[in-house]
Amino acid sequence: MPLVNEKQDFLKAIGIQPASNPGPRDYNVVSRSQAGSGKLDFDAAIFDMDGVLTKTAAVHSLAWKRMFDEYLRIREDKYGEPFREFTHGGDYRVYVDGRPRHQGIEMFLKSRGITLPPESPEPGGGSESIRSLGDRKNTLFNQIIESEGAGLYDSTVALIQDLLRRGIKVGLATSSKNSAVILQKTGTVRLFATVVDGLVSEKLGLKGKPEPDIFATASANLGVSNTRAIVIEDAVSGVQAGAKGGFALVIGVAREDNVDELRNHGADVVVRDLAEISAEKINQLARAKRART
Ligand SMILES: [Mg+2]
Repeated sequence: MPLVNEKQDFLKAIGIQPASNPGPRDYNVVSRSQAGSGKLDFDAAIFDMDGVLTKTAAVHSLAWKRMFDEYLRIREDKYGEPFREFTHGGDYRVYVDGRPRHQGIEMFLKSRGITLPPESPEPGGGSESIRSLGDRKNTLFNQIIESEGAGLYDSTVALIQDLLRRGIKVGLATSSKNSAVILQKTGTVRLFATVVDGLVSEKLGLKGKPEPDIFATASANLGVSNTRAIVIEDAVSGVQAGAKGGFALVIGVAREDNVDELRNHGADVVVRDLAEISAEKINQLARAKRART
């Protein structure tokens, strides 16, 4: 079956509207001279990627399904275990979603009574280890992004463009190691003056979220102190990082109907989509927070 149909059927089955391919469009920095607005009371905005800028959650789920189904087929051939497919609702949401990659693999395999070593015992690799399954999932994820791109939240792009117009510096802070290809595929590279991703974190030895390191590094790269930078995040660990780092404002984006959860873990304000908030509104909220503290 062609890849595109398979993906669209899968997205429909899990209740997600397939994202339209953004094509070759390139989002540009709008020059400041086009701005016609007053000075804002913060200097930088640091955005998360997966779930805030891009609709990559469904791509992750699909990549997990392909990897596990492939492996379960191998087990059927090799050990005669009847094949039972990996599903979004029964398996992805329960065992994998939100967990570190290797922990998710272990949890799902355990649910099927399968135990694998962390590393392959064979020198050249081999498919039967936690690490090799994780690597395979990552390869599949990259293949899907490479062939189809990733959907964008247009409201996030609009907010970023509005902030840039007003002279705000904008950065990206993500745990993802795939940010370069995703930004390139979505035509959003030029929106971000700095990108601190999983690869940069590894190189610099930064702690992942919920520690504030990657947001703090992004704002430092922009020459702005945390107290003058706002953070926009959709994950619990991300809003925790924003709160810990003493940022000017932490905006939670509740994509999973988890408004209270984000608020309880450190978001100063929670929206379901960034269309609900403007640069002006963010400025008011940041001012109010500063006055309180
Ligand atoms: Mg995210």
